[in-house]
Amino acid sequence: MTPTISSKLPGLQPSIFSEMNRIALDAGALNLAQGFPDFDVDPELLRLYGEALKGGYNQYAPMPGVLSLREAIAEKTASLYGAAYHPETEITVTAGATQAIFSAIAAVVRPGDEVIIFKPAYDSYEPNVRIHGGVPVLLPLQGPDFRIDWEAFDRALGPKTRLVMLNTPHNPSGMVLEADDLLKLEQRLRPTDTLVLSDEVYEHLIFDGRSHQSICKFPGLRERAFICSSFGKTFHVTGWKMGYCLAPAALMREMRKMHEFVVFSVNHAAQKALVQYLKHPDRYLSLPGFFQRKRDLFLSGLKGSRFAFTPASGTYFQVVDYSGLSEEADVAFAERLAREHKVAGIPISVFNLGGADHKQLRFCFAKKDDTIARAAEILGSL
Ligand code: PMP
Ligand code: GLN
Repeated sequence: MTPTISSKLPGLQPSIFSEMNRIALDAGALNLAQGFPDFDVDPELLRLYGEALKGGYNQYAPMPGVLSLREAIAEKTASLYGAAYHPETEITVTAGATQAIFSAIAAVVRPGDEVIIFKPAYDSYEPNVRIHGGVPVLLPLQGPDFRIDWEAFDRALGPKTRLVMLNTPHNPSGMVLEADDLLKLEQRLRPTDTLVLSDEVYEHLIFDGRSHQSICKFPGLRERAFICSSFGKTFHVTGWKMGYCLAPAALMREMRKMHEFVVFSVNHAAQKALVQYLKHPDRYLSLPGFFQRKRDLFLSGLKGSRFAFTPASGTYFQVVDYSGLSEEADVAFAERLAREHKVAGIPISVFNLGGADHKQLRFCFAKKDDTIARAAEILGSL
C-alpha cells in the first residue's frame, strides 16, 4: 500500500524567491528579486577562508560555535549596543539566521501558543511557528511607512502570547523600528512571560544617519529575547549560510537543545575565517555608506518616473508603488515586468496579511552599480 502523507504545512505555496529567480533566468532579466549581492566578495575574506581550509579546519566545529568567534561576536555586540553576552553561555553560531530563527521557535513554542507576527513578514516565520503547533497572530504594519499599530498590538497581546517576532531593519519594507517603538514594547511586556525573537540580520544596513535599535539596548527586552543576525548579509556571503543567535543563558540553553539536533554545529573553516575578518570593525561599520550610495543610485533613476516610493531607511530593499502605471495584481505585474522589460522584483502581496495587494514591488539594490543603473533606467522609462 502506498503510504498517505498528511502535510504539516498544507497549502504552502512554493517560495516566491525560487519562483522569481526562475522567471528572471528564463526571461534573461536583471535580477533584483531575491536578496543577494551580485558583486564580488572581499578577496581577503576568501583568502582567510582558503587558509582555514588548508589549515585543517575540516572537521566538526564545537556545537555552539568556535569560541574565538563567539568572543568576537560578544565584543562587537558590547561595543555597538552596550550589551554584554557571555560567549560561553549566551551566543551560538548557526547555519544562517534561518536556522537560528527555526531553533529559537522550536525551543519555546508549544502547541496552542500564540506568536505575534507583523505583516508583511519574512516568509519563514509563519511556517516555523505552525510546524511547532503554534498559532500565528498576524498584525498588519500600518500606512506607507509600515509602522506598528500599538492599539492593535494591545488587543492581540494576551495570556497565550508566547512570543513576539520583530524584524528591524525590516524586510521587505526597509522600515526601521525607532527607540520609541521598543520602549513601548518593553513597557507592555514587562508584566508578562512573553518572549521576543528579534531578527536583526540587516543591523548594519541602515541609512541617513539613523542608528540601529538593537533590542539588546533595552534591558526589559534583552532579558526575554533571542536576537538573530547573519554574516551572509553583513559580509556579502549569503551562500555561506552563517549566522548567530544571542540570548540570556536560560533561553540559550533551550535554543541549543534544538540547534544540537537540527545541525549540531556549522561550517568550521568559515567560522575560523570570520574570527580574523571581524578584527576590523570598519568592514561592517562602512556598510551604511556603501549601501546608501547604491540605494540613491537606484532611486535617482526612478525620480520623476511613474513609480512612487519612500527611500528605504534600512536593508538592501526598496519598495516602490506602481499604481500610477498599472492596475494589474502585483504578482502578474512582477512577472510581466521580468518577461517584457527584463527587470525582476518581488511582489509584496506574498508577504502581506491575507495576500493584500497594495500594488507594491520590492527591488534589491545589493547589486553592481551597472546592474542598478540599467534596471533603474528601464524602470524610469516606463
Ligand atoms: N531574516 C530576514 C528578514 C531575511 O531577509 C533573511 C534573508 N534570507 C533571513 C532572515 C535569513 O538569513 P540567512 O541567509 O542568514 O539564513
Ligand atoms: N532574504 C532574501 C530575500 O528576502 C532571500 C531569502 C530566501 O531566499 N529564502 O530576498
